[in-house]
Amino acid sequence: MPGRTILVGFLLAGAALWAQTAPQGVPENAVTRVSEHVYAIIGFPNIAIVVGKRATLVADTGMGPRNGAIIVREVNKLAHNPILYLTTTHFHPEHATGEQAFPPNTVLIRDRAQQEELEKRGQEYIDLFSSRSAQNKELLKDVKLRKPDILFEKEAKLDLGEVTARLFWLGPAHTMGDELIFVEEDSVLIPGDIVQNKLVPNMPNSDANVKNWLAILDKLEPLHPRFVVPDHGALGDGSLIAKEKAFLLALQTRALELKEQGTPVEQAAQTLTAEFKTKYPDWENMNPVGNVVRRVYEESQ
Ligand SMILES: [Zn+2]
Repeated sequence: MPGRTILVGFLLAGAALWAQTAPQGVPENAVTRVSEHVYAIIGFPNIAIVVGKRATLVADTGMGPRNGAIIVREVNKLAHNPILYLTTTHFHPEHATGEQAFPPNTVLIRDRAQQEELEKRGQEYIDLFSSRSAQNKELLKDVKLRKPDILFEKEAKLDLGEVTARLFWLGPAHTMGDELIFVEEDSVLIPGDIVQNKLVPNMPNSDANVKNWLAILDKLEPLHPRFVVPDHGALGDGSLIAKEKAFLLALQTRALELKEQGTPVEQAAQTLTAEFKTKYPDWENMNPVGNVVRRVYEESQ
């Protein structure tokens, strides 16, 4: 449909512009409409807001209460009524530490694996992010995490009124507890870090999982989403899933080849970072390639 193509083109242009000028955080007064019920704020990270007749769902909180408060102000402009659900795509600070800014009646829902991970490693990541810049430290200084209201094992459906959000967990990929959201009537996928737009999959430590990341992408493809609202980078359409898979599969294949040839892991990380920089010149940053290579080596032992 030509109308849709134009909308995606417009969104991509807007997101690229934002990426060049973005401060660290969620911008105020910058809501973009994605579909009938779905809105996005393009920032660090991107925030998705699903507005139904009965209730509103927000995916991700921004880093610290100050970013959370910006989201709440935008939600108040969009929502039809005060029933509010909040979920987080994973436990990392820019996705989950703005929780306390949301009003007390907010229903906090996430998968159980993510909650366990947040309790185990949340503070460690708050400390890590705080050490990276004075601005982060300031944003994260008074974080108080809320108790979740609903934990689900694998899947939960939220009827928001004329629109349904399916929240689901398919095992570890970027983290142990990655949550994905599919807004059924609008065919919008909110995949957290699992599907992105020209960004190398980020696998910070051994909790990340290349094999399962690929298995998740296989399960997402049949959804054929019309729009994808990733956590980081530009918005896009369903073709992002195949592009993510092609990249990750190519990198996994090359890493296994080098391992087979006896190449030491750190050398393989260097070689493939350079190789993929040439193969994918328009992808933003190849630094995360090294960690993917390390995971592939660990997984094939
Ligand atoms: Zn993350």
